[in-house]
Amino acid sequence: MHRFPATPSTPPPLQEIDDFTLCSRGVRLLVHRADLIHPAVSGNKWHKLRYNIETARERGHDTVLSFGGAYSNHIHALAAAAQSAGLKSIGVIRGELAAKLNPMLRAATAQGMTLHPMSRSRYRDKESAQTIEELRALFGDFFLIPEGGSNALGVRGCAEWIASIDARFDIACCPVGSGGTLAGVIAGLAGHRRALGVGVLKGEAHLQERVARLVQEYCGRAYSNWHIAPDYHHGGYAKFSPELLAFTRRFSARHDIPLEPIYTGKLFFALHDLVERDYFVPGTTLLALHTGGLQGLAGLRERAMAVM
Ligand SMILES: *Cc1c(COP(=O)(O)O)cnc(C)c1O
Repeated sequence: MHRFPATPSTPPPLQEIDDFTLCSRGVRLLVHRADLIHPAVSGNKWHKLRYNIETARERGHDTVLSFGGAYSNHIHALAAAAQSAGLKSIGVIRGELAAKLNPMLRAATAQGMTLHPMSRSRYRDKESAQTIEELRALFGDFFLIPEGGSNALGVRGCAEWIASIDARFDIACCPVGSGGTLAGVIAGLAGHRRALGVGVLKGEAHLQERVARLVQEYCGRAYSNWHIAPDYHHGGYAKFSPELLAFTRRFSARHDIPLEPIYTGKLFFALHDLVERDYFVPGTTLLALHTGGLQGLAGLRERAMAVM
């Protein structure tokens, strides 16, 4: 029998960071190691895909289709999740496909995913009725999962995720890309404690709006106990500063927690910097969600040998 998700037999560990800066500011930092749940469907992707895959199957679809860039963790995770659920998958990829696929896309095709390149100009309109109709004409029936898996089903999975974590904390922290994870965290906290997102793309207003819209859609109401730190994108999505790369390497080595610089590196960099700037009152406990993404490291290294 095909199964997704195969529920992890033990919950991922909670790791406390032992660090001088934290100590001196009276702040505790706990890391929920969701990177360890599943080798291919790790971190937040497992939680965002779980009800999407379940719903696709319940509604009798045999194919799921979604969108992403050539280095998308979402596309990679979707390929593995769909395969283990016995579903076919189609990944609509922004831009042209290189003659030699990068390791992320190679892994996706190895898990049975059909890749469909889409020009950047068309990709901007990828979820328009006309484009979806054309995709249906090409591929037949499919269950559509938006880019990043950030729909109400993805939000639901992340809401249940945060609610299931057995830890005392004051602020739950996560990186923000398409916003579904933070929206789920906000929904799961249901007005209690606080959520802090670290934006990994440029354009704070845009992220803020997107998360607020997802929360409204899922909860039918707004919450105000959350915030996105806008100044830690290091130039934008998949852009890195030398400072960020150095921090990521040092933190990974010191605390034995693997990080990549696109999401989790920016999250921990931001938390460390905010602690140094006395942003948190002494006595605060932070819970950082390790959202995974480590399978992308191989692709990143191939792309940027020089910096990694
Ligand atoms: C996709 C991804 C995110 C972003 O999550 P969103 O729900 O899109 O905001 C964060 N961290 C990692 C490692 C990811 O792969």
